[in-house]
Amino acid sequence: MSSTRMQWAFGRILFVLAILTVTAAGALGAAARNIVLLIVDGAGYNAYHCSSYYEYGETGKQPYDSFPVRLACTTGAYDAPVYDPEKSWSDFKSLRSKATDSAAAATALYTGVKTASYHIATDPDNRPLTTIAEIAHAMGKSTGAVSSVPFSHATPAAVFAHNKDRKNTGEIANEIVYRSGLTVVFGAGHPRYDDNGRRRPRGQSKDDYCPDAVYQALADGTTGKGWAFLESSDAMEALAAEARPELRRVFGLAPCTSSLQYRRDGKGPGGLNGNMPTLETMSLAALNVLSRDEDGFFLMIEGGAVDWANHDKNLARMLEEYADFNRTVAAVMRRLQEGGILEDTLVIVVSDHECGQIWGPSAGEESDTPFDLPVNRGKGNLPAAKYFSGGHTNGLVPLFATGPGSEFFHARVRGVDRHAAKAWCISGQYVDNTDVFTVMKAAITD
Ligand SMILES: [Zn+2]
Repeated sequence: MSSTRMQWAFGRILFVLAILTVTAAGALGAAARNIVLLIVDGAGYNAYHCSSYYEYGETGKQPYDSFPVRLACTTGAYDAPVYDPEKSWSDFKSLRSKATDSAAAATALYTGVKTASYHIATDPDNRPLTTIAEIAHAMGKSTGAVSSVPFSHATPAAVFAHNKDRKNTGEIANEIVYRSGLTVVFGAGHPRYDDNGRRRPRGQSKDDYCPDAVYQALADGTTGKGWAFLESSDAMEALAAEARPELRRVFGLAPCTSSLQYRRDGKGPGGLNGNMPTLETMSLAALNVLSRDEDGFFLMIEGGAVDWANHDKNLARMLEEYADFNRTVAAVMRRLQEGGILEDTLVIVVSDHECGQIWGPSAGEESDTPFDLPVNRGKGNLPAAKYFSGGHTNGLVPLFATGPGSEFFHARVRGVDRHAAKAWCISGQYVDNTDVFTVMKAAITD
């Protein structure tokens, strides 16, 4: 064989090897094609158990309790001390200091970077951070954010917007509508409706979740960004029931100012706003748009008002909001199954932080049993529980995952909280909220 011929043959072999490598990567592919990240805002273990007692009369029956990955998760922001199980269970007040807010928590979940409170996908020096939705978008996947509170509120905002302050909701709304790569957005924040779902005159809203000019452009179809606009419960239910291939980009603005149900008149359960979409309806409508993308999708769904109810120490409405979130998880799992895409989808259910420092009636720093647990009073009855804070804590939150890539969480375990294990009948193994990003990224790219 001449040296030229040998070089040619060697070149051929390299070429064939390269093709084989590419084919193998293509055939094996990334672990997951789609990601659904469901966030119950402001819910620690005791809120989660209270919702189980109230809905089912026992624990273990939530739609994600059977997921193969069940871990605890730490949530502290960049300036918080590393979670210390011994301190957490000896000093009742310790987890209240330097508690994260939802903006920093969302940023950690979506970007893997700890930042300061109020920061929306920006680091403490206000530099923009790349989110999992932006990574998915760059891979050609569709992306979505759905929330029961305003689409420009911290948790949905950080999916694709970047801002140094979560309170700049007008700027954030503009960024989401005009400069984000989101395929679907569903949420509250309507400037022309109040929280009882009643129309109000233009300009009467002092909230700036969606500036009136942004709303008007969406409604008139003049954003130039291809948004189909839905603002009625009927339209959202129709899309949830049946895909409409002509709708390539969908913006759903629920007819309420700040929450689908939570901030309606009164404090107790029942007497729900009529003509209001549920989180379940908005999530299924979003899935009907996203799941048409052959390249896959990323979808974040937030039960946002669980946190608000905990701030207000309103256990009854917190449980109402939690039930809405749980119905949404169950409906999403059913829809993924029916659509034949459950096996391609990494599903993660997590809270962004604890809120309200919920414990049992005999708990508290003055008590001999400071970590007394809430008491089950059976299905349909409010559990005996007490709020010890009107704000957030850095207490452990539950994390559940299933589907391709979910097993990556096991390699991310940072420690074991033996007190948590005993109190809540869990393994006590915990990961960090930044690990959620790491696992999601590995699942769609590795
Ligand atoms: Zn909060």
